[in-house]
Amino acid sequence: MAAGQRKIFKITLLGDGDVGKTSLRKNYLGEGFKDGYSMTIGADFAVQRLQINYQDFVAQIWDLEGQQRFSAVREVYYRGTSGCLLVFDISHRSSFENIPSWIAELLKNNSNRVVPMVLIGNKSDLRAIAKDPIMREQSEEYARSLSQWSGFSVPYIETSAKTGENVDEAFKTLLKIVSSFYGSSDGLALTPYPKDPGDDMTGAAASMPRKMKSKKKGRI
Ligand code: GDP
Ligand code: MG
Repeated sequence: MAAGQRKIFKITLLGDGDVGKTSLRKNYLGEGFKDGYSMTIGADFAVQRLQINYQDFVAQIWDLEGQQRFSAVREVYYRGTSGCLLVFDISHRSSFENIPSWIAELLKNNSNRVVPMVLIGNKSDLRAIAKDPIMREQSEEYARSLSQWSGFSVPYIETSAKTGENVDEAFKTLLKIVSSFYGSSDGLALTPYPKDPGDDMTGAAASMPRKMKSKKKGRI
């Protein structure tokens, strides 16, 4: 790599529509938080220059539309992903249960290779008022099973794009994992297949942990 040239990391935000992907990106990049729903058209990306352990990098943060009808656009943008934030809304159970299908889509478009990931439970400010919030232990347990499966350590972080809680932390945690994986190599290292990729590698998605244990509420 020529002197002065910066490595580029492509960071994608994955998750259902409305979980707060655009808000997280905007909050992280300091554009403030906008209340109200704005549907991203296709995909947006923003560029950030940063330094980790005295090395210069460029992070391209891609914000992909979660709507099914844009799936053709999504396929193009998964390619070359260095790492991703897997985002769900803690107040919306189905967005948590859909995380495995987002990972499956990433694998499908990334030659069945895993990438560094951080699991994000967004809208933590709604925890007190949500009817059936996803419990932290359940998310942590799922993140642990993703770690075992992927071979990368997959942290779980709860964020609020509304209050800003942990938003910087979420991006920084991912960027640290990404830079320590790719940072030392010249050019971009290939990420591994999952630990249990199945016989012909196409089983990667099939071997992914999908079990979302839900705790039944106890009767009083
Ligand atoms: P996207 O479709 O995943 O990009 O989601 P958006 O960023 O467009 O957010 C969807 C809706 O959720 C908007 O009305 C946001 O104002 C709201 N929202 C996003 N993040 C938060 C959060 O952390 N807390 C709360 N209370 N609302 C949020
Ligand atoms: Mg959006």
